[in-house]
Amino acid sequence: MFRTSVQNTEVACAEVAVIGGGLAGVATALRLQAAGLSTVVVEAHGHLGGCAGYWRHKGFSFDVGATTLVDFEPGGVGAELLASTGVPPLAGEALPGYEAWLPDRRVSLHRDQAAWHAERLRAFGDDRAHRRFWALLDQLATTFWAASRRGVRLPVRSAADLVRDVRILGADLPQVRHLGRTLGGALRDCGLAEDRALRALLGMLVEDTVHSTVDRAPLINAALGVTIRGAGLTRATGGMHGFWRTLAGRYRSLGGVVLAGTRVSRVDGSAGGFTVETGRGPVRARRVVFAVPAPTAARLHDGLGRRLDRYLRRDAGEMGGAVLVFLGVPADEVAGSSFTHHQLLESYEKPMGDGNNMFVSVSAPGDEISAPSGHRAVMISTHTSLAGWRLPEDAYRQRKKEITEHLVTQARRVYPRLGERAVVSATGTPRTYERFGFRPGGAVGGPHQTLRNTNQFAIPHDLGGRGIWLVGDSTWPGLGTVACVLGSRIVAEGILKEKP
Ligand SMILES: Cc1cc2nc3c(=O)[nH]c(=O)nc-3n(C[C@H](O)[C@H](O)[C@H](O)COP(=O)(O)OP(=O)(O)OC[C@H]3O[C@@H](n4cnc5c(N)ncnc54)[C@H](O)[C@@H]3O)c2cc1C
Repeated sequence: MFRTSVQNTEVACAEVAVIGGGLAGVATALRLQAAGLSTVVVEAHGHLGGCAGYWRHKGFSFDVGATTLVDFEPGGVGAELLASTGVPPLAGEALPGYEAWLPDRRVSLHRDQAAWHAERLRAFGDDRAHRRFWALLDQLATTFWAASRRGVRLPVRSAADLVRDVRILGADLPQVRHLGRTLGGALRDCGLAEDRALRALLGMLVEDTVHSTVDRAPLINAALGVTIRGAGLTRATGGMHGFWRTLAGRYRSLGGVVLAGTRVSRVDGSAGGFTVETGRGPVRARRVVFAVPAPTAARLHDGLGRRLDRYLRRDAGEMGGAVLVFLGVPADEVAGSSFTHHQLLESYEKPMGDGNNMFVSVSAPGDEISAPSGHRAVMISTHTSLAGWRLPEDAYRQRKKEITEHLVTQARRVYPRLGERAVVSATGTPRTYERFGFRPGGAVGGPHQTLRNTNQFAIPHDLGGRGIWLVGDSTWPGLGTVACVLGSRIVAEGILKEKP
């Protein structure tokens, strides 16, 4: 591996070029670098992170998307990444769970299984139908979390994949019969379709994890999404800023190269000889990993674009956006709650999104990377439709102001004085994700998951053919930190198996 700073001459040369320095890209590069391959990560933004990144202002460090890392504790999918690449275990707050605020009740989403089992029966009813429904969800979650940790692969692309998955599932193989069911279908089968509060809570959880609705979410994916607390949620000390310091530090110490502030405009070539064109000059590599949203990957490489076309057309109507409010506040404004994370629903009647289902994350007390002494960083996020933000400048500004006020007002159900003396107050919209995160159209999180586009129908990691790999929240298993890490394992293993 070598680098030069001469404009328009080769800026880097490596065995593998990874385009995109979000979690999926860096996790893949880190695995490969640790296995002895030379890698270079080419990232358009000024630093690594993407949708699991951060921005700093006035001594605060705010997470710009993901605030919680999923399954990073011992035995988990994330922990496997850290252990296999020599990254120390994550320092941070292992969340005991979080609080869901429904219009007429509060439900503590405990991480502890026994406490959660008791809480859900208390909140929604202790009868045969509810017990049957939760038992089904628990069974699926147990089976498929275990399969994820053991490295299950989808879509099945070869006989070897099939054999591997069958072995991993073992005696639980019959559970795959649920692959064609939705969460809504399971509720109906248990006689709970009319349980408004339960439907609402499930709707909140699946919107956040698989970007879908109760009636459209594939049952197995929904079961995993609804149980992510049980898998372990961690907010690193310093939030994503702290996490990236550790991850990027390890990657560089292994000899990995990061070209930050370097946008890729085109990729040409085939296995053994790719040229990655960037604003700073070409990068040469024998293989390429596209760790960018699928529409970007399609634009960068012609052959890959042709193969992705049918997936992109299928998913075009399934993309969504997010709005985030960042507040830097005196610590007393967020005092009084035992949980640092809350999810709120304003109304059972209104559709979800735009504040009706929003997430509030507060940095841990004493976390002085996230906030100056005596202060806390607060991130409030909600889903939004992209079409609603295609507005002329004045209308855009007005909408941004209104949604900011709305989100802060809703968050005051938890913290009544929130934002009264804010040191920092800023709002990100789909435009922000487009500008700073290079997400086409501002879409985040991959397509809404349905039976038509997940699992066996997801975009395969090896779709591009020899030497070309895809990873990240557009590919299986979809969005979220745990999904990106799982994808990175599949891609790194695939590259290591490819003959040079
Ligand atoms: C508001 C919000 C809250 C979330 N909360 C959580 C959570 O709490 N827990 C969780 O697990 N997940 C959460 N997620 C999901 C999670 O953040 C994402 O699924 C994940 O970070 C996606 O990672 P990625 O690497 O696939 O994509 P990205 O993070 O988008 O990374 C792609 C990278 O490629 C770069 N790039 C793009 N185009 C180019 C180019 N042409 N040249 C070079 N570089 C380029 C981008 O700058 C970016 O850094 C949340 C997402 C959002 C938006």
